[in-house]
Amino acid sequence: MQVFGLIGNPVGHSVSPPMHEAAYEESGIDARYVTFEPPAESVATAIEGAEALGIAGLNVTIPFKERVAELVRTDRLAGRIGAVNTVDFDGEPTGYNTDAVGVVRAFEHHDVELSGSAVVVGAGGAGRAAAFGLADEGVSVHIANRTVGRAETLADEIRNASSGGLSGLEDRLAGADLLVNATSVGMESNATPVPKSALHGDLTVLDAVYAPIETRLLREADSVGAATIDGAWMLLFQGVEAFEIWTGRDAPVGRMNEALRAAL
Ligand code: NAP
Repeated sequence: MQVFGLIGNPVGHSVSPPMHEAAYEESGIDARYVTFEPPAESVATAIEGAEALGIAGLNVTIPFKERVAELVRTDRLAGRIGAVNTVDFDGEPTGYNTDAVGVVRAFEHHDVELSGSAVVVGAGGAGRAAAFGLADEGVSVHIANRTVGRAETLADEIRNASSGGLSGLEDRLAGADLLVNATSVGMESNATPVPKSALHGDLTVLDAVYAPIETRLLREADSVGAATIDGAWMLLFQGVEAFEIWTGRDAPVGRMNEALRAAL
């Protein structure tokens, strides 16, 4: 039996175990997916221990993604983002960032053409992943963040990206094709990081927030005729990509989606 898992703190409410175990069952893979909450000072020991114990793969979540990127070899994308959310222990432990791929695959799954321009609101972990992921697909990216300096730093790392605060969003969004909310605004609340007046019907809006599934941003985007993609799609495709890295097989996307949405 293979063992996969998730390290982070806290991980108690994670929906990754049912999503991945549904995929193992559907694919006939004898494996389990378990959660680990090491104290911050033990992350390096935890990664070494996982390798020594023969754990096949780990997902990594808050607050350990940046630390793990320093502990294992990374692929080019994870190295540029500076954060790892998936470690493959087959051979030399290697770190990937499937959050970035999750954003791209969520758009692709909804037949959204990845060209034109995107506004990414947020410059934390999810914002970095979305901005690098979309820019690598050839989308022209503007990063808007409450702390403007953080948006500037991120834009400096990405070719042709621009940056700003949250106040100029109406102008920025007027000609944009894609909008990603990568802030935590809207998480367990009815707040929105983008005023409704800035939304329009030519946008496709992806909200990284997945609790609630239908955020105020998505409701308001839908009401002005924009296409919407909820945060569970990003969560799904980061998991799909991790499954495919670990097993080398196509993931049973429909079954993983069902299990994820049942658990959320
Ligand atoms: P993070 O690194 O802590 O970044 C938080 C971001 O939210 C920063 O840009 C921060 O701006 C902004 N922010 C926080 N409170 C704000 C407020 N009141 N007004 C305006 N901006 C505010 O967190 P993260 O890891 O990027 O996660 C962000 C969200 O994405 C969370 O809800 C998380 O659950 C979600 N997420 C979803 C997925 C998925 O697969 N669907 C994956 C990863 C994350 P400052 O820089 O100014 O503080």
